[in-house]
Parts: sequence; C-alpha cells; structure tokens
Amino acid sequence: MEKDKLFEVKDLRISAYNDEGEEIPIVKGVSFDIHKGEVVALIGESGSGKTTISLATLAYTKPGLHFTGGECQLFGKDVLSMPPLGQRDLRGGNVAYLAQSAAATFNPAITINEQVTEAAVLHGRLTQAEANKRAIELYHALELPDADRIGYRYPHQVSGGQLQRLMAAMALCSKPDLMVLDEPTTALDVTTQIEVLKAFKKVIREQNSAAIYVTHDLAVVAQVADHIVVLYSGEVMEQGSADQIINNPQHAYTKRLMAAARPKPTAGMGVQVGDEHHREADNMRVEDMTAGYGGIVDGEPVVPILRDINISVKNGHVVGVIGESGCGKSTLARVMAGMLPPARGDILLDDKKLKGSLLDRRLDELQKVQFVFQMADTALNPKQLIGNIIGRPLEFYHGLTGKEKHAKVSEILDMVELPPAFASRYPMELSGGQKQRVNLARSLAANPEVMLCDEVTSALDSIVGANVIKLLTGLRDKTGVSFVFISHDLSTVASFADEIVVLYAGRVVEQGPTDEVLEPPFHPYTRLLISSVPEMRIGWLEDTMQKREMAVGIARGVEITRQGCPFYNRCPLAIEGTCEVKIPAILELEKGHQISCHLSLEQLLETEAETQKILHGFEKVGDEDQFSTAH
Ligand code: SF4
Repeated sequence: MEKDKLFEVKDLRISAYNDEGEEIPIVKGVSFDIHKGEVVALIGESGSGKTTISLATLAYTKPGLHFTGGECQLFGKDVLSMPPLGQRDLRGGNVAYLAQSAAATFNPAITINEQVTEAAVLHGRLTQAEANKRAIELYHALELPDADRIGYRYPHQVSGGQLQRLMAAMALCSKPDLMVLDEPTTALDVTTQIEVLKAFKKVIREQNSAAIYVTHDLAVVAQVADHIVVLYSGEVMEQGSADQIINNPQHAYTKRLMAAARPKPTAGMGVQVGDEHHREADNMRVEDMTAGYGGIVDGEPVVPILRDINISVKNGHVVGVIGESGCGKSTLARVMAGMLPPARGDILLDDKKLKGSLLDRRLDELQKVQFVFQMADTALNPKQLIGNIIGRPLEFYHGLTGKEKHAKVSEILDMVELPPAFASRYPMELSGGQKQRVNLARSLAANPEVMLCDEVTSALDSIVGANVIKLLTGLRDKTGVSFVFISHDLSTVASFADEIVVLYAGRVVEQGPTDEVLEPPFHPYTRLLISSVPEMRIGWLEDTMQKREMAVGIARGVEITRQGCPFYNRCPLAIEGTCEVKIPAILELEKGHQISCHLSLEQLLETEAETQKILHGFEKVGDEDQFSTAH
C-alpha cells in the first residue's frame, strides 16, 4: 500500500430496490484515495451521492440502501466486510462522523464534556481522566472561549459556532484516523462559518488526521480541500487537486457547478421589476417596534431582542433581512406574523394597525400575511398528502371544497412548477427542493399580500436554491405578492431583494435599496458581513484572517446591549467615550438609504477606502493606531 495512504474507496457500488423489487444503482463505481493530513471534498448537488459515499467509510448505508460491490479500505483493510463488532469499533473510534446540525447532535440535558468524552471512553480508547484532559486540549486547539471550563456548560449555554466546534472536539476526542464532515458549516452565518472553518483546518493539520468534507458550497471547498471529487448521480465526473478543480475545471458538470456558485454580493445584482403590481405604496410597515421574550414589564420585554425597529415593505417588493444568528431576524418575522406580540410599537397592513397577537387578528388579516418556515421537512405533516396540505388553506381562508378545491390545488402546484400528480404524494416521496416548493405553495394557497420567508433556501444546495429564487421572482411578478426574505446568505439576498435591512443585535443598523446598501459607504457591520462571504479562491481564508479588522469582528459574538451602539464591542472604528454610551443617530443618504452610526458620511467613505486597500492586500495592517479603535 502506498505510504501515508489512509483510506481507499475502490469501485464502490450501492443500490436500492424500487417498488417493483428491481435494483436501482445509487452509487455507481466510485473510487478515490485519502492520505494522512489531507482533506478530500465530495461535491455535487442533492442526490449526487455525497452523503451516501461518505457514510460508506463507516460501513453504513441509509435505510433502504445496500452495498453491491467494491471496497472501503482503512489502512488496507476492507471495512465493509468486517464483522459487526469490528464495524462497531470503527464507528466513533477510527472514523468519526460530524453531522450538519450540532444542535441536533448534542443532548440538551447532558453537559458538553460528558458528551465530548463519551465515545472515547466507551470504545476503550482512553480512560475518563485521559479523555477529560484530551477534551480540554481540543477546546484550546479549537480556540473555544474559557476552554478549561466550557465543558461544564450545557449545549444551550454556548453559541451555534461554538457548538459546531465542540462537535469537532467530540469527533476528535477518540483520536480518529478519519473524520467525515457532512456540510458542517452550511447552516452557519458567514462570520461563524469563517471561525469554524479556521478551527477545523488548524486541528486537522495539527492532529495529522484526515477528513472527508461533504458540501455543495464551492467557495468553502476552496478554503479547506486538498483534493476534490466531483459527483453527479452517484458517479465521479472529475477529480483532482483543489487547485486544478477550482482554477481549471475540465468536465462540463464541474463548470456548471462553478457557474451556479454563489457570487460575492455586489451592487447591481438585484432583479429588475417593473410590472403593474410594482407600486410604491406600503404594503406592510413596522413602526417603533420593540419586542422580546419572557413577558413584558413596564412596557419593556424581560429579554429584549428587537429595539425601535422601523421598516416598510412596499407592494410587490422584496425586503431582504440580513444579519448573523442571534440578531433578531426570525423574531422580526414572528412579530410581523403575530406569533410574538411586540412590547411597544405598531404593525400596519395597508395602513391599518394589526393586533399584536394573531389570535386577535381577523381571518382576512391572517390570510394576507403568510409565514413560510425554514425547514420544509418539519413544516409539512408527513402523514398528509400534498393535496391535503395545499387544500387546507384553500378551505380555511376561501371556503373551497370538492372539485373546485381540487382544481385550485392543481393550479397552485403548477405555479410552483410541480406536476398535478404530486397532489397524491406524501412529503417523504419528494426531494428537498420539491418539498420547499410545496411549503411555498401552501402559503400561496392563502393568496397572501405578504409572504414572510424565514431562511427558505438555506437548507438547499446552490442549484436548487437558485431555482427556488427564480420561482419566487416569477411569483412576485405574476401575483404582486411582497416578500420579507430572511437569510444569512448575502449573495442570495443581493440577487433577489429590492431593499435590504441589516439587523445587528436587535437594531436596524443600515437599510435601503439593495444597490445602495451594497455600495460604499457601508455601515461597519455591513462591511464585516460582506467581507466574510468566502471567495472561490484558494488562500482566501488565510488572507482574510490576517486582516485585523476581520479578526476582531469575527472573534467576538453578538451581544444585546441596552445603551450605545450595539456593534461597539466588535467595531474597529468605534469612538471611545461616544459609541459605547450614545445610541447613534441615523444618517440619511440618497434614495432612502439610512446608516445608523456616529461616524460622518466622509469618515465612513474614508475608512471604506482604507479597508479596501487592506482587503485587497495593497497594505497590510501592522500599525495599531491606523483605526481609531477603542480596543
Ligand atoms: Fe457603532 Fe461607533 Fe462603530 Fe459606528 S463607529 S458602528 S456608532 S461603534
């Protein structure tokens, strides 16, 4: 066996049986090698077999699938033909699997350390004392805050990015030879993604382990992979070094994937709308709204989340809401939908005040404002036929029954570009993208004026996600419906929204037409978000982390503050003595563009030019006094 070859996938074949008992090949003769210290990325759209192949390294198939040929050799020994006991030792011992959602992986009722060390102790690889020591070393290596004590906390007491890194510690604790990372940063916002990618890369290098990285995000692949395997429908289309695949792809499918990769958000990406529905009147407005959780005492929420929010959604417009996790994006949509009554302020629909709670809203008001949930998987009842799922709002809001309802269901399925026969299917018979279309169709069935879409494309791969955006754009043009589009994916928002609202720690720090918001001057937080979107360039991650401005912003998390500018503790331009005590006034710029900052327009433009110089490498930051920083 070739020196330092750790794992070899040889002509792997996996199949399923269809209803007629015929064998359907799912993975069709895939081969690739993994060497020590190497990260091999498996890329491709949903259904390309990425996850199925990566799970085969654990000698595991999803229910309904079976191995039909080939080998998966760890140090020359085939894991597929191992006896069950050997395979049990392999899983979590030699090969560790990191799922997409850390929140779903951790048990909320058990402390972090118990969970991180469990597999290493259970597999007899380390004693509890050794595992505890190793866990603390890993917390330090993964640059977790309060590394000596973070293990005593419960999962809900750490942030999403920290939990994702703790999941890496869990996988690494038993010193596995190979880690399988399945879309570990897909659900994270841009700044957290950088933080997690950086930690993964460092640990894989330091531990001299190897990893399979499953993802559909090519810009992420460019930051972590040494070798890339491009998959389509269970077959390898092309494989090679990261440099070759990213900079010189050969296969037509790889080129197509590259073309669908999310571009860096820039001005001019917004769609042009100009039909009869596109009017300047406000459809929905939020005025001086403050909201939070834990009840309301003296007009203030006990746990404040949103403060003094003012936004408007014009007829037929798309308002994109961006910001990191914990900034209040979903809470804003919940308040607008009436799921969380505000402590103060008003929600207006067509210039009429809505009651805070949806329980007090009239049926026609409920019908006009519809919520589309993030996870179609959990939003759709698995026991109901698609026809019933879409038919229910038709009956509830419009009183349709029988043939009339049936015909309308077909019409709505057609609107979301699904065949009418789908009405007699169950959600589990649909792909992720199709389920998301049904999720949208259910809201459309109410014939709403405003659709509140909470991260509706974040669980989809870039090609399916781009198709959903195209569909939404078509629906907006056809029906005149307005959208509030919440997403952590800036590129998607930039390509779809007419206006952008940037939320930070529960306050609007910048808002305006998309082209204006994506063009300097930027609010310092918007600047951090835009600069954190990975570029499809090898070395981008390292270059970015060298910029002090980025390092400060990324290292610190979102904190809800009661006074001063909420971005103060992460802002490289903060003015000491002012920013931490005084809430900034709103700078009114052209075309309704607003920035909430103590800096003047001239200062923002000047510092923007400085940042561009730094980000494009004309001048490295070395002088601590370059920015008037408070830290
Ligand atoms: Fe906030 Fe001050 Fe930074 Fe402006 S300069 S974003 S007001 S901390």
